Amino acid sequence: MDQPPFVTRFAPSPTGRLHLGHAHSALFAAAQAGKAGRFLLRIEDIDSGRCRDEFVAGIEEDLGWLRLEWERPVRRQSEHFDDYRAALARLAARNLLYPCFCTRKDIADEVARSGHAPHGPDGVLYPGLCRRLDPAERADRMAAGEPHALRLDMTQAIRQAGPLRWLDHAAGPQVAAPEIFGDVVLARKDTPTSYHLAVTVDDALQDVTLVTRGVDLFAASHVHRLLQALLELPTPDYHHHRLLTDDSGKRFAKRDRSLTLQALREAGHSAAEVRAMAGF
Ligand code: GLU
Repeated sequence: MDQPPFVTRFAPSPTGRLHLGHAHSALFAAAQAGKAGRFLLRIEDIDSGRCRDEFVAGIEEDLGWLRLEWERPVRRQSEHFDDYRAALARLAARNLLYPCFCTRKDIADEVARSGHAPHGPDGVLYPGLCRRLDPAERADRMAAGEPHALRLDMTQAIRQAGPLRWLDHAAGPQVAAPEIFGDVVLARKDTPTSYHLAVTVDDALQDVTLVTRGVDLFAASHVHRLLQALLELPTPDYHHHRLLTDDSGKRFAKRDRSLTLQALREAGHSAAEVRAMAGF
């Protein structure tokens, strides 16, 4: 059977100007959709402290200059916190969330005290302090309005979801291993969602059928696959692509100002030249 054309997306965070690595990602996603598929742009701006409107405008300017075309309206995550709250409520109804009052220092102290610090893809695993809180103390602290994040009880979540698989077009079939992240944060103290939750909910709401992104986010897909199962969302295919590196083999990053698309354009490079530099 023929594979229907893919719905893909490029999902940058507007925390700076786009660089060549972003151009590679955007061009890759658009190429995977092809002429027959759909290519979407999504603005991942849940972090209000770091995201800026001028960078949203810059993203659209740069992508337009690269001659990419995307569907409108563009989804901005900051306009959809209700969708993420609804997903949190579904997980809470399954008894899979608990409030976490810990500061970074609380976590560091507990890790030091226990003398062992297993690490996952995002750093040290949460040592479970608030998962083990006495229910009465938890209720008191909630009633007192103490700031808290919401964490996924990973052991219970995996127990409820059972074994899961997903497909990466580059790496092949995968068995989901979300346990490597431990009890991930699904809502931050200051924001009623987190990267993992918002991206999973949005890819489903936007009917994305092929998630493309850099291989640096490969492990995150284990968590996203789990959240899809728990929230009864469809599972897209994945394609984690290589990361573009500079001449010295270093990854492009936002701090490399000289390699922003804006700087390359202002230095006189044509869009075709920049596409070629980005591997297209
Ligand atoms: N917003 C993420 C980033 O800029 C990418 C999210 C994704 O593609 O899943 O790194």
